[in-house]
Amino acid sequence: MINHTQINNQQFAAYIDGQWHKAKHTITSLNPADLTDIVGVFGEADKGLVSDAAAAARRAFRTWARTPAPVRAGIVQNFGRLVENNKEALARVVTREIGKPLKEALGSVQEVIDTVNFFVSEGRRLYGQTIPSEMPNKELFTYRRPIGVFGCITACNFPVAVPAWYFIPALVAGNTCVWKPSEDALLTSYWFTELWARAGLPHGVFNTVLGSGPGTGAAFVELIEEGAFDKIGFTGSTAIGRKIGEVCGRALQTPCLELGGKNPMVVCPDADLELAVDGALFSGFGTAGQRCTSLGNLIIHSQIHDAFVEKLVNKAKNMRIGDPFNSDVTYGPLISQRFLHNHLEHLSTLIESKHELPLGKGGHIGHGAEWPHFSGNAKNGVYARPNIVLNVSMADRIYSTETFGPLFNVLKYHEFDEAMAMANNHGYGLSSAIYTNDPRTVYQFKTEITAGMSSINNTTTGAEAHLPFGGNGKSGNGGRQSGIWVLDQFTKWHAINWDLSGKLQLAQMDTHYVEPDLNFKIQS
Ligand code: NAD
Repeated sequence: MINHTQINNQQFAAYIDGQWHKAKHTITSLNPADLTDIVGVFGEADKGLVSDAAAAARRAFRTWARTPAPVRAGIVQNFGRLVENNKEALARVVTREIGKPLKEALGSVQEVIDTVNFFVSEGRRLYGQTIPSEMPNKELFTYRRPIGVFGCITACNFPVAVPAWYFIPALVAGNTCVWKPSEDALLTSYWFTELWARAGLPHGVFNTVLGSGPGTGAAFVELIEEGAFDKIGFTGSTAIGRKIGEVCGRALQTPCLELGGKNPMVVCPDADLELAVDGALFSGFGTAGQRCTSLGNLIIHSQIHDAFVEKLVNKAKNMRIGDPFNSDVTYGPLISQRFLHNHLEHLSTLIESKHELPLGKGGHIGHGAEWPHFSGNAKNGVYARPNIVLNVSMADRIYSTETFGPLFNVLKYHEFDEAMAMANNHGYGLSSAIYTNDPRTVYQFKTEITAGMSSINNTTTGAEAHLPFGGNGKSGNGGRQSGIWVLDQFTKWHAINWDLSGKLQLAQMDTHYVEPDLNFKIQS
């Protein structure tokens, strides 16, 4: 059973071939709600360990790929049962390590279980096709084949759900894996790895390397260039994703890149304004704005702009911020000190004199910036005040910069075409939302929006295990996770033609099509 209070100081750096390995250089995970609470001390995997992990996955591949898919899926089902048995404990580790409110952490563990439930039965499908041939006595088939060694680097904010989106379908499809999780979620990643080990995966099928981006992550990328992996998945910032995409291109691979967002929400004059206020507040401030799908630009019709902003600001002023184990907080601390630093940097570099900040200038709660409804440890926690930025236009840097913190912009539109331009022109294309009750407006929105995901009368956030998840433009390279669509990431199509005629038959050349009588004319 997972013990969420355990301080892991074993300096474990890598899980390879069924064994944990230690490293000299250490990396410490701290509780962002109280930086004096050491969550764990782990090792930093160097290039040698990452290379050993890739080699172990390579050795395990042949046997795993030949294991019948329903048997592979049975082990995934075991993993799901273990996650269910440890749901509360795993969620508590997530909350302690990255500050995500417990209710949300429980939701992300549930996402893992949902993903297992969807893909277990996929082990009994993984359908190929039988296809008619243009020649007699010949059969055509397609099969989904596993790709090989899957290398995956994941982000800090969904440390169990996003890895589950990758590894569950990858393993069911017969691939072996090497995972480099975020350095902000080391204990969570340790337990996630242990759950796979206890599920009964053969040694070498799932391997983990722990460490920082510039250290372990950079070594991982060198190994992509050297051909250690057959498929790469990366979830994280657009800047790092771009670099990984370049390297994958040189290695002749198509990676699955799931990157940042600047997600728009349009509020039309006919919308249910109370509903839209609640939607905007959760989209902007849920998870302290640290979701890839968090609200970036709130686009409000001029007719309702002032009244809407007043409602929004009044409600925001009553938000509770603080201890993520308290059930009434909208958000807890930022994920780590790095994110507080970035947030303060955005406040000092992106806010222009024309912008208005109706919730105040923001800042580090307890360090010169207080919040009236605060329940956390202000002295030791990484807590930030929320920000709403008014008078933003498309020319401003803040309009097209992902801020990944408790901050969103407000823009005013007059014509719907202008709202669509505001919703698309920042260049990201992950999620989007519209509040309206007019079906024609919904139709225009869903036809013209460039995002991969859209909500109608709901938040910019949220995903379900059987709906495609992913973005376009600066948000990714068009790959999709979840549901049946992700199988195209983890399998390659194999086309077979089987000639039973006993003679050489050539497609196109030996095909006997029947000619029509083209002289035939209808007599009128
Ligand atoms: P990040 O890009 O800083 O780090 C992501 C991962 O890359 C981490 O494991 C990190 O250690 C590693 N990394 C960092 N530098 C590296 C390097 N030079 N070489 C190799 N690996 C390196 O992102 P983050 O701060 O962990 O997460 C926040 C970002 O992730 C935001 O932009 C957010 O929008 C995005 N995100 C996207 C999705 C999605 O599905 N589209 C989901 C979650 C988060």
